[in-house]
Amino acid sequence: MRLVLVGPPGSGKGTQAERLVRHFDLTQVGTGAMFRDAMARGTKMGLEVSPLMKQGLLVPDPIVNDVVAELFRSKSRPECFVMDGYPRTYAQAVAFDALLKLEYLPLDAVINLTISDDDVVKRIGGRMCCASPACGVCFNVYHRPPEVPGVCDACGEPLVIREDDKEETIRRRLGEFHKNTDALLEHYRRQHLVDDVSATDPADVIFRNILKALERRHPGAAAGAATANGGKR
Ligand code: AMP
Repeated sequence: MRLVLVGPPGSGKGTQAERLVRHFDLTQVGTGAMFRDAMARGTKMGLEVSPLMKQGLLVPDPIVNDVVAELFRSKSRPECFVMDGYPRTYAQAVAFDALLKLEYLPLDAVINLTISDDDVVKRIGGRMCCASPACGVCFNVYHRPPEVPGVCDACGEPLVIREDDKEETIRRRLGEFHKNTDALLEHYRRQHLVDDVSATDPADVIFRNILKALERRHPGAAAGAATANGGKR
């Protein structure tokens, strides 16, 4: 299964991506996580993207496209994957189409998680993520609290509010999201790849609805990695 997840910050994209990874045995490709890792390691690219990310602005298309192309052209390229946060603009979608065509890796579906801006702001108000760049798991004090307040369940490091999760930053990121996403979705709708799924339901229900949408496209696929296509649909 090769999927793109589209949704504003706070739509639960990361949570659904994790579930899809487990269910279909996919590689999760998260460009935000790749940039945070580059920043933490202090690489040249990390230093370049750091001020943009801190202001909630998008990293320029050529930089993001290069990072993704490098991954897909490497020997350890993912064959089955869920894209979490890429492509985010029409130009990125066009570049990604060309890359996947060259690599003979056609997309199966684009899952569009839908939620209003006000609901996003409510949700993100409670988000805290693991301070360790190697982990980066996110919790929500209202909807998905960690077992011990302020501590990551996965690795025990402290949880922090990411600079790009502060309300002012969120409003800016939502503005950017709307500015870019219409053209992106239109591009994929023309290819009949888009499934709209409401992101306001509980995470389990959202996941079930995603599976239903994928099942409609590929009957038998929703059963997951154990049965579909010899374990790797
Ligand atoms: P995320 O973790 O996906 O919310 O991304 C965090 C930040 O990384 C975004 O606010 C952008 O600054 C940057 N970023 C991640 N993915 C992309 C992308 N596909 N295009 C441009 N900027 C991105």
